[in-house]
Amino acid sequence: MSSAEGFVERLVTPAIGEEIFALAAEIFPICRSITGDGVRRTLAHLRRHAALEVREVASGASVFDWTVPDEWNLHEAYIADAQGRRVIDARVCNLHVMSYSEPVRTRLPLAELKRHVHSLPDQPTLVPYRTSYYQRGWAFCMAHEQLAALPEGEYEAVIDATLAPGRLTWGELLIPGREPDEVLLSTHICHPSLANDNCSGLALLTHLARRLATAKPRLSYRILMAPGTIGAIAWLAQAGPGVQRIKHGLVLSCVGDGGGPAYKRSRRGNALVDRAMAHVLGKGWPDPVLLDFSPYGYDERQFCSPGFDLPVGMFQRGQFGKFPEYHTSADNLAFIAPEHLEASYRTIVSALDVLERDRRLVSTNPFCEPQLGRRGLYAGIGGDKNAPSLNMAMLWTLNLADGAHSLLDMAERSGHPFGEIAAAAERLERAGLLVPAA
Ligand code: ZN
Repeated sequence: MSSAEGFVERLVTPAIGEEIFALAAEIFPICRSITGDGVRRTLAHLRRHAALEVREVASGASVFDWTVPDEWNLHEAYIADAQGRRVIDARVCNLHVMSYSEPVRTRLPLAELKRHVHSLPDQPTLVPYRTSYYQRGWAFCMAHEQLAALPEGEYEAVIDATLAPGRLTWGELLIPGREPDEVLLSTHICHPSLANDNCSGLALLTHLARRLATAKPRLSYRILMAPGTIGAIAWLAQAGPGVQRIKHGLVLSCVGDGGGPAYKRSRRGNALVDRAMAHVLGKGWPDPVLLDFSPYGYDERQFCSPGFDLPVGMFQRGQFGKFPEYHTSADNLAFIAPEHLEASYRTIVSALDVLERDRRLVSTNPFCEPQLGRRGLYAGIGGDKNAPSLNMAMLWTLNLADGAHSLLDMAERSGHPFGEIAAAAERLERAGLLVPAA
């Protein structure tokens, strides 16, 4: 029997959706950016569940064509009116300050203040999320209807922040399998209070890492939670030739909403992870979206840059930039739900199961069908309603076990779910009718 049998069952535990949601809610309030204590505090929460290592690189370090930026830490940010009443306050919602803003403490008339305020005229009740990482400046973000209602007068704008040499931080965990080939599972850790775009992926990946650590996987798993773009670049810059051990990879982005799901293929387009995700989505979802690679999106852009060309795709539910809550204060805890997180988790685990168990087998009895009844292999004489499907899966597996077809090839060709083919193969292997291909 393959010791990988039951891989899915070991990873999908009861109430997994609620547990992921609770962890997302726990880290939601933290003010994260591409550097700073927000990332460290988030990792401190996640480390209670999975043994992530905290890794850092100094500001000013050269990483390929980029330079690790200064560290940003926000202490306080607000706009107050002439009477000292706070119009907006980052303590209430950390989206109110543009991430990476330079410190400022000034008084200015409304017209001048407005040049430093982002709002969304088309979504007037929502606060936008804005960053300015690679161009210095300062700004606030607020609901357009609130901005439009501000009376003329003088305002105080305060951003009490430090932007100075420090370090860039990421979390990383290698879960060794029985084999050195690695699966890279990555998500970004640089967004402040946005539930779907950041917290959902971090919470899901943490709970997945925790369970993988005890699941005795065949493959090794490298978990990476790095700030978007610069974090992935910094990680790749220090990874060295070991990066070539990555044989499959998935970037997770927005995994907690009820949209999609969508999978974006790796640059290679036909890597095993691409085929595994397409198969799992096709079997498990009524209307999945499969997208070809493009050099825009999350950190698959870096992993799939031509110098690396790693087989890394990207999984999300609603497609980033397309759902109206994206990068606004509406991407809050009410926008994600335990059932959606659980469905995303199950989908990812099913794809990992394909990576774990896909292999080639050869029939020991290729001349005509072997006699299954004599070996007690025909299922469901008692009327199991899955029996016809299980029997067909066995016949397909026997027929295609020519050493040229992998189990995923068999699943694709027969239309059976991979799990059914893999189970049939294990049954036939135990009966001595299949052996591993040379
Ligand atoms: Zn984002």
